[in-house]
Parts: sequence; C-alpha cells; structure tokens
Amino acid sequence: MKSFDHINATTVDEALAALKYGNGKATLIAGGTDLLGIIKDRILPDYPEVIINIKTIRELEYIKEDPEGLKVGALAKLSDIAESAAVLSEYNGLAQAARSVATPEIRNMGTIGGNLCQRVRCWYYRYPHQVGGRIMCRRKGGSSCPAVKGDNRYHSIMGGKGCVAVCPSDMAIMLTALHAKLIIAGPEGQRTTSIQDFFATTGNSFNHQEMLTEIQIPKQPTQSRQIYLKYSLRKPIDFAVVSIASIITLENGVCTDAAIVLGAVAPTPLRASEAEEAIKGKTIDDTTAERAAVAAVKYAKPLSMNAYKVQVTKTLVKRAIFCENTIAGIPNSHRKGQENWCPTHRGNQRI
Ligand SMILES: Cc1cc2nc3c(=O)[nH]c(=O)nc-3n(C[C@H](O)[C@H](O)[C@H](O)COP(=O)(O)OP(=O)(O)OC[C@H]3O[C@@H](n4cnc5c(N)ncnc54)[C@H](O)[C@@H]3O)c2cc1C
Repeated sequence: MKSFDHINATTVDEALAALKYGNGKATLIAGGTDLLGIIKDRILPDYPEVIINIKTIRELEYIKEDPEGLKVGALAKLSDIAESAAVLSEYNGLAQAARSVATPEIRNMGTIGGNLCQRVRCWYYRYPHQVGGRIMCRRKGGSSCPAVKGDNRYHSIMGGKGCVAVCPSDMAIMLTALHAKLIIAGPEGQRTTSIQDFFATTGNSFNHQEMLTEIQIPKQPTQSRQIYLKYSLRKPIDFAVVSIASIITLENGVCTDAAIVLGAVAPTPLRASEAEEAIKGKTIDDTTAERAAVAAVKYAKPLSMNAYKVQVTKTLVKRAIFCENTIAGIPNSHRKGQENWCPTHRGNQRI
C-alpha cells in the first residue's frame, strides 16, 4: 500500500470538511471491506491521498422507526439490519437482502452506506495493477468496455450503455423495491435522491465532496409480501448472478400493487415495470406469473456468454410472485390454499 493521510471524523461536518481538504483526492472509509481491497490492488488510476474514517461518526449508526417509516443511518451494519426487530416486522425484505450479503464477518463490518457505494465486481474493472497493469475500462476513464467482447458471463443483459458491469449491491435492489430515498450531505447542505437516480451506468451520482448519511424507507402497505431472492453460484458467499426484490400487495387474492426489481442483470437496479403491470389487478396464478416473467425480460439483450441469465431471471420472477423462497429450503408458497406457508409474509419471521 502507498502511504496516505488518515483522518478520524467524529461528525458529518468534520467528514465534509476533510473531503474539502482532500480536494478530490480524499476517500471515505466505513467498514473498509470493499475499499481496502481496492486500494491494496491499486485498481484505480487515482490513489487516495487522504482516507477519512467515518466509523467514528457514532450518530450515523442507527435503525429507527417513526410514523413515516424506517430510517437507517449510513453506518448501520448489515448484521444489525438483518437482526433488527423493526426491520424484521415491517421491512423484512430488507433483512432478507442483508442476510444474503457475503459472510457474517463481512456483515459485521460492512455498512449499508458502504454496500450502496461499493464498486462493481467486473473482473476487468477489478484487475489488480500488480498483475500486468490495470485495465483502463470505460468506468475508469478508458475508451471501451472489455467485457462487451470478452468474458461477460456475469455481466448485464439489459441497460448496459458504455459499461456492462452489474450493480453488485443486494441492498440497492431491495431498497429500490421499497421506494427508499437517500439523504446525501454536501457543502451546499443536504439533498434527497431516489435510489434509481443515485445509480448511473458508470458509477453513482455523488460528487467528491458529498457523503451518504441516511436511508429512508416509507411505510409499506399492510398486506404486502416482501421477498428477496438471490441466485448465486456459491451459496455460503457470493455476489448475485441474478436477484429479484418484490413487494406484492394482495386483497382477496387480487394484486393491488406490485414492485418488482431485478438485480445483477443491469448496471443499476432495474425496475421491471412491465412485469408489475402484468400482475396488477389480477389474481396471482400460473398464467399471470408466466406473463410477468416474460415481461420482465422483454428488453433483454444478452451478451455472447450470458443468455442463461434470461431464463434465471424468468424463473426467479415467478418464484418471487408466488413468494417461493426455495433458497431458504423451506416449503412455502403463496399458491392458492397455501398462503400460511410464506415465511416472508408481514409479521411472520420464520427465516
Ligand atoms: C468476499 C466479499 C463478498 C461480498 N459479497 C457481497 C454480496 O453477496 N452482496 C453484496 O451486496 N455485497 C457483497 N460484498 C460487498 C460488501 O457488502 C461491501 O464490501 C460492504 O457492504 C461495504 O461496506 P463497508 O462499510 O465495508 O464499505 P467500505 O469498504 O468502507 O466503503 C466502500 C465504498 O463506499 C464508500 N462509502 C462508504 N460509506 C460511505 C458513505 N456513507 N457515503 C459515501 N461513500 C461511502 C467508500 O468511500 C468506498 O468507496 C462482498 C464483499 C466481499 C469482500
């Protein structure tokens, strides 16, 4: 590692002042589970000259509920989110997403803010500098995306413009379905953005003097079923090959509202609006689920090595609609007559 200045910030104002002092060469560190690997492997052309430790800002480590919904400080740890009573009772999809991240060790260190701001896992982007020199892809200011013609088996099947790396954050996918808002502090004060506006094809909407301070999730409909399904190759620890976050509200068996978000198929969390429309106002059955699955991948344009993701996405969409969490290995279903088996139904915390 190269040497750098290290600053412990104890308030948001101190962190912002340190970012200003760093003049574009400063980086925030929270749990460090992503950042340390990046700087050790020197994957970025710019090495930070100042590292600002924000773990010391205790005021940002909270999970609290109020009449408007849930508020999560940017420094709340993933393990605390996975176990929080408030999250489990009303926002259990978020607990499921948190539990799906990495290992207990990483969840104990990793924060929700760091999870949302982590860098993509594309192997061209992450190619270590010491092994033959870093690869200057589009995301690092290069002129092309090597994955388009290279090994793209884990890359985007939708929405890749310039860069086809996928959004690696499980939390971002569920938070999009939950209609979360991000509170961002900067030199001009505070601003609020939606998760969808936060993520862009080649990065996020931060400028180098801003930091994420809070995630706000509105109250969810009482009859909503929340589920986060993640297909990955190594179950105990792996990033998603495809994931689905879904929140479906039913009244007398009819879907009155739906949010379905696709993960790891695009550079940003991807709202499957046409899949949502396919089930809204309808009874959930095999026909409507199949229509939604087909609609979810309507705009898919797989690359040379990842057409398999289309079928995986369709299967996960159907499972999410029926609230079938086969990943947890529990026999559960929202198929007609089996409604009580869903472990993710509001109030039921069996997984
Ligand atoms: C082996 C391994 C497996 C993993 N598997 C998964 C997985 O399955 N799913 C998944 O979603 N993630 C996975 N991750 C990523 C992991 O979740 C993230 O590394 C972690 O959440 C980052 O949190 P952190 O607090 O450690 O962030 P840090 O490493 O401290 O920071 C990460 C980035 O976010 C920035 N940052 C941090 N906090 C803020 C803030 N408040 N405002 C602005 N910028 C900020 C930092 O500057 C840095 O660029 C995995 C990581 C590893 C190492």
